[in-house]
Amino acid sequence: MECTDSPEFCQFREEVREWLQANRPRELRPHNSAAQIVYDRAWQKAQFDGGWAGVSWPAQYGGRGLSPSQQLIWCEEYASAHCPMVHDSFWLALNHAGPTVFVRGNEDQKSFHLPRILKGEAAWCQGFSEPNAGSDLASLRTRGVVDGDHLVVNGQKIWTTMAHLADYQELLVRTGPELSRHKGLTWIICDMHLPGVDVRPITALDGEPHTSEVFYEDVRIPLSNVVDQIDNGWSVAMTTLGFERGPASFGAFCEVAVALEELIDHVRGLEPNAPAALRGGGALAGRIAMARAEVLAVRALVYRMVSSAERGAEPGPEGSLMRLASSELEQTVMRLAMDVLGPAGLSRTSAGSWSIGYFEAFAETIAGGTAEIQRNIIGERLLGLPR
Ligand SMILES: Cc1cc2nc3c(=O)[nH]c(=O)nc-3n(C[C@H](O)[C@H](O)[C@H](O)COP(=O)(O)OP(=O)(O)OC[C@H]3O[C@@H](n4cnc5c(N)ncnc54)[C@H](O)[C@@H]3O)c2cc1C
Repeated sequence: MECTDSPEFCQFREEVREWLQANRPRELRPHNSAAQIVYDRAWQKAQFDGGWAGVSWPAQYGGRGLSPSQQLIWCEEYASAHCPMVHDSFWLALNHAGPTVFVRGNEDQKSFHLPRILKGEAAWCQGFSEPNAGSDLASLRTRGVVDGDHLVVNGQKIWTTMAHLADYQELLVRTGPELSRHKGLTWIICDMHLPGVDVRPITALDGEPHTSEVFYEDVRIPLSNVVDQIDNGWSVAMTTLGFERGPASFGAFCEVAVALEELIDHVRGLEPNAPAALRGGGALAGRIAMARAEVLAVRALVYRMVSSAERGAEPGPEGSLMRLASSELEQTVMRLAMDVLGPAGLSRTSAGSWSIGYFEAFAETIAGGTAEIQRNIIGERLLGLPR
């Protein structure tokens, strides 16, 4: 399959390329999360000021109001220009909190939150998982009780990425009876600065608090922050996960596709002294060819999803196909890079760090639902297999 840009898209791609070349940050993104958020805010604001934040978001909320295809062109050029992947801080707000508020929120919620996200003024985190509710999200127990015009929340979340620096949270709580499962949940916007929200960072092996435990003690959240309706949060959470597993993976996929081509260029540069394993017929050469074929397959999936978004469809369970394929591809490419580069894979280049990418890829088949759960969803909801 070969897809080429229309003349209009060619021109658009050129415009994107020029803007990114002229404006992308020249300094590498810092590794420390407190410094990262400062860097990410400045870069997000620069994109907003340049008119490039939220390419496909409606103009009335600060976006550019263009098509999903143009959003994808932006992602492709963004990756090719080695622009920083703001995986934590604004990634969540831009890729699933904002889209959820846009699709399921009311006008007040949209006009308050969406421009703040695009301007880099509000970082978000996700409060879904709990110590005993990860894959089985519907068993969550954090409690929300209506008291006047507030929801009073008590309980605990865990593995909340960026909680220690976030301004708002996608919070999923139980408002129905204890055994109500999917039927008694509410999706509410929690201001992370409210009294009673206690964030306790979990330090990872690299010394950074990527995720946190979050405790809630009598946290009073205005009912006006409920997205959709009380007790209808499961359906809103499915919207969030549809975005998180589907379109939110496009940027990371584009980054992996670019990384693989750079690895191939590196191997070409080794000729004629390349080790036998990297020459035609060698074991590593075969793995590189297979990885490139997998990139083409995932790209076809991306085009298919963009094409249904062009027809107005919201992302659904097919997002699990995208999430599974792109996360496993990322692990394949990163493992391949370490095997091909050897010790050189540990150095940090202007394009970023292979070793950080390698380690981060491990989490990709856990966060947002494990690979096993994505396979279950594909089997049950896409292929119609029995539970
Ligand atoms: C880096 C990272 C960042 C994260 N960020 C966030 C965040 O910001 N917000 C948030 O809410 N959560 C976050 N999470 C949590 C993530 O969503 C959960 O870890 C994930 O859903 C799995 O849940 P669990 O850890 O409780 O594992 P469990 O659900 O206990 O699963 C343990 C193992 O059992 C398997 N398993 C469980 N049930 C089934 C089944 N029915 N069929 C087959 N296999 C099954 C799983 O695949 C897994 O291998 C993050 C996780 C990571 C690793």
